[in-house]
Amino acid sequence: MQILRSKLPRVGTTIFTTMSGLATEYKAVNLGQGFPDFPMNGKLVEAVTKAMQQDFNQYAPMPGWLPLREALAEKAASLYGASLHPDTEITITPGGTYAIYTALTTILSPGDEVIVLEPAYDSYVPNIEVNGAIPVLVPLNGHDFSVNWPAVHAAVSPRTKAIILNSPHNPTGAVLGESDITELRKLISRQDIFIISDEVYEHLIFDGKVHHSMLRYPDLLERSFVCFSFGKVYHCTGWKLGYCIAPAALTKEFRKVHQFNCFSCHTPSQVGITEFLKDREEYLQLGVFLQEKRDRFIELMRHTGFSLRTSSGSYFICAGYEKISDERDSDFAIRLTREAGVATIPVSAFYQDGADQKLLRFCFAKKNETLEQAVERLASL
Ligand code: PMP
Ligand code: GLN
Repeated sequence: MQILRSKLPRVGTTIFTTMSGLATEYKAVNLGQGFPDFPMNGKLVEAVTKAMQQDFNQYAPMPGWLPLREALAEKAASLYGASLHPDTEITITPGGTYAIYTALTTILSPGDEVIVLEPAYDSYVPNIEVNGAIPVLVPLNGHDFSVNWPAVHAAVSPRTKAIILNSPHNPTGAVLGESDITELRKLISRQDIFIISDEVYEHLIFDGKVHHSMLRYPDLLERSFVCFSFGKVYHCTGWKLGYCIAPAALTKEFRKVHQFNCFSCHTPSQVGITEFLKDREEYLQLGVFLQEKRDRFIELMRHTGFSLRTSSGSYFICAGYEKISDERDSDFAIRLTREAGVATIPVSAFYQDGADQKLLRFCFAKKNETLEQAVERLASL
């Protein structure tokens, strides 16, 4: 009998699955896994329903529904000044995570190194390792989760193939600024590396900050795979639809991997989203909408013993709990779910060595009453 040698021996069930499972078991308010609990826009549901009724129900072309790629090229031009060819530089994918995985699989060979900034979204490291490549972990600065560029420069070796960036950042809500772009340019002038830019929270950016998309910078875009998710833009994380933008030569290779994995994505959703993308306000007002939620959550949390860190974007904000407990963050998160009825994500889950910063991540992309109910429970601790 063959013995299966695991390609990912250190990997277990994701923290999101674990905490959402516990939340259901203990009927806790779920501020853990990042998904909105408010309804998505009914007009988009209608547009997709209409597409099904009009019989857009067979395979879409492998790179995606062309009118959707054209609409995305227009959006990228108007938001970021990017000049993209929809036919050769945009590929529709089943979600942002798949786009990142496919980009990494496209470029990596065994032994290659990829710089990953920690805390990091949980899929990056397994995506690297499953390709036989090596994650080189560089911690973000502790006080504000900005990029520690001297440490990044020190982590570069002749085998460095790529760096993964994520702005706005999960789990911390930190965003890249102009000076990060300058540093990134220095990095690529030293070594010819690829950039995997996870921009699924592109519109969820607060306080008038600008999203420094790789799409703004032709010299960076020429070596980038820029990954997006419609789930985060249209409050439909369960649809698992996203896209990857990369220069034609990179996209050509990306599609070789994609076409024998997924081939093409759900057609009616692509047709419906194409129509819905015409309404620019739908995505332009997102930052303000989520900022109001962040601010409401911060205000409510004043009545608890948690000390919130800064969040400038994403669905998330982190909080310390030193006034309440000195438990490990994972133990505390489990106890909070069981005893207080509020599920969160322990930030140690975003570190490969499980480093305990005594921080929990809260998702504030929730109805106001959900946030109020959660904080009422937290205030009683
Ligand atoms: N990157 C980050 C940082 C995320 O938080 C998410 C959220 N799930 C994704 C990628 C992937 O999005 P999707 O659900 O479209 O795969
Ligand atoms: N992106 C979501 C989060 O960070 C979860 C996605 C997932 O469950 N894999 O909470």
